[in-house]
Amino acid sequence: MVNYGVERNIYSRKYVEEIRERVRPIIQNVIEPNAEIIDKEGKFPRENLLALAKEGWNSVTIPEKWGGLDLGYLGFSIVVEEIGKFDASTALVYAMHVGAAQTIALYGNDDQKERWLLPIRQGFIGTFSSSEKATGGHVWFNLSQAERYGKDYIINAEKSFTTSGGEADFYILQTRTPDTTDPSDNSFFIVDGHDKGITAKPWKALGVRGNHSGPITYRNVKVSHRDLVGHEGLGKEVMDEGVNPIYLLGLASTWLGVAQGALTAAVDHVTKTVNKGFNNSLADHQVIRQKLAEVKIQITALKAWQLDLARHYDELLAEGEPLSLLASEVIEFKVQASELADFAARTAMDVAGGYGYKEGIFERLYRDARAGIPMAPSNNIARDQVGKLLVGLPLELWNEGRIK
Ligand SMILES: Cc1cc2nc3c(=O)[nH]c(=O)nc-3n(C[C@H](O)[C@H](O)[C@H](O)COP(=O)(O)OP(=O)(O)OC[C@H]3O[C@@H](n4cnc5c(N)ncnc54)[C@H](O)[C@@H]3O)c2cc1C
Repeated sequence: MVNYGVERNIYSRKYVEEIRERVRPIIQNVIEPNAEIIDKEGKFPRENLLALAKEGWNSVTIPEKWGGLDLGYLGFSIVVEEIGKFDASTALVYAMHVGAAQTIALYGNDDQKERWLLPIRQGFIGTFSSSEKATGGHVWFNLSQAERYGKDYIINAEKSFTTSGGEADFYILQTRTPDTTDPSDNSFFIVDGHDKGITAKPWKALGVRGNHSGPITYRNVKVSHRDLVGHEGLGKEVMDEGVNPIYLLGLASTWLGVAQGALTAAVDHVTKTVNKGFNNSLADHQVIRQKLAEVKIQITALKAWQLDLARHYDELLAEGEPLSLLASEVIEFKVQASELADFAARTAMDVAGGYGYKEGIFERLYRDARAGIPMAPSNNIARDQVGKLLVGLPLELWNEGRIK
């Protein structure tokens, strides 16, 4: 077990910086050097995830009893952000994995924790499998439905996107509870990623090309009753209290990291690029500095928000309060962080001129940063939900009974 050597005062900057310092060697030695090839070849970041697993980072929120570092949502958000500064693909794979593991930590029984959480230290990777083409970004609703097979289950489902598809050792799969006609009656299952009935299609996308988030098919996949998460029909609660808080915090922290990566690359470029005609650098132009300052100011604001939100989650967990108390706020944070990554990547490309447009770090960041905007809840759906909550209108959730 890593000994952090600092008092666990989640409100101290020293504690936060200590976590960053601890994870940085893996990022500098493994993740950063792999980033370009992951993008160019669409290579799954297995090596990065294994390096993180070895030191326990893949179990960052998990209690020590189950092989984890027990650093809470605060520790998780910092690690994702640090990875995101160098590679969005790895950060997303990592965020989905930690989210899947944390769902088992919160809702699993000891048998499940032993079988699925302990192997994470050896490199097991998990992920979420929720989205379906049939219902698009309305991920709260699935058309697929589990069937009974004695006391076990058979899963047939077409999932439109699943990060780490075909690579994960386990999927936290969301589908409708057997026999139900109620659209809000969902269940989650832990599905063995090596089942022969699982087929993942290739991931060909604009950015986050190492992510392997393509469509995935589950054909007659048998799932033991031992791998039902909680009990039948618990899906809505698992989604609101388990999946959404950690998934959205991880997603947003990824984009906060990407924004910082873009700013760092841009500052590096403008300070080093000298126009020999005037013997000045790009950084000598006020317009360039203004644009970079705008990104910096927004990053600083979001970093404070991120820490506050993550700490608040840890407090709610410690007090046994529902994490859904922060449901609107974490969606707002996701919107803001993904828009900031997009803005930072566009600004970086702008200040890097024609050089930025060429193949390289700026165009990679520009492509990667777009992924946050459609990821669930898409920023359009998110704004719709936040707006409806503001004015007291009901959300469109759980009411798609017209679909048969
Ligand atoms: C890189 C990446 C990784 C992903 N990883 C995963 C994963 O690991 N697991 C998983 O389950 N899913 C994953 N997804 C899926 C993702 O979370 C969304 O479910 C998916 O992107 C929705 O896409 P769609 O084309 O079906 O959207 P659609 O629902 O068809 O939306 C199309 C457009 O319409 C808008 N729209 C739709 N409905 C509304 C509405 N009610 N109000 C306002 N606007 C609306 C949307 O904002 C969007 O602009 C991933 C997606 C990406 C891009």
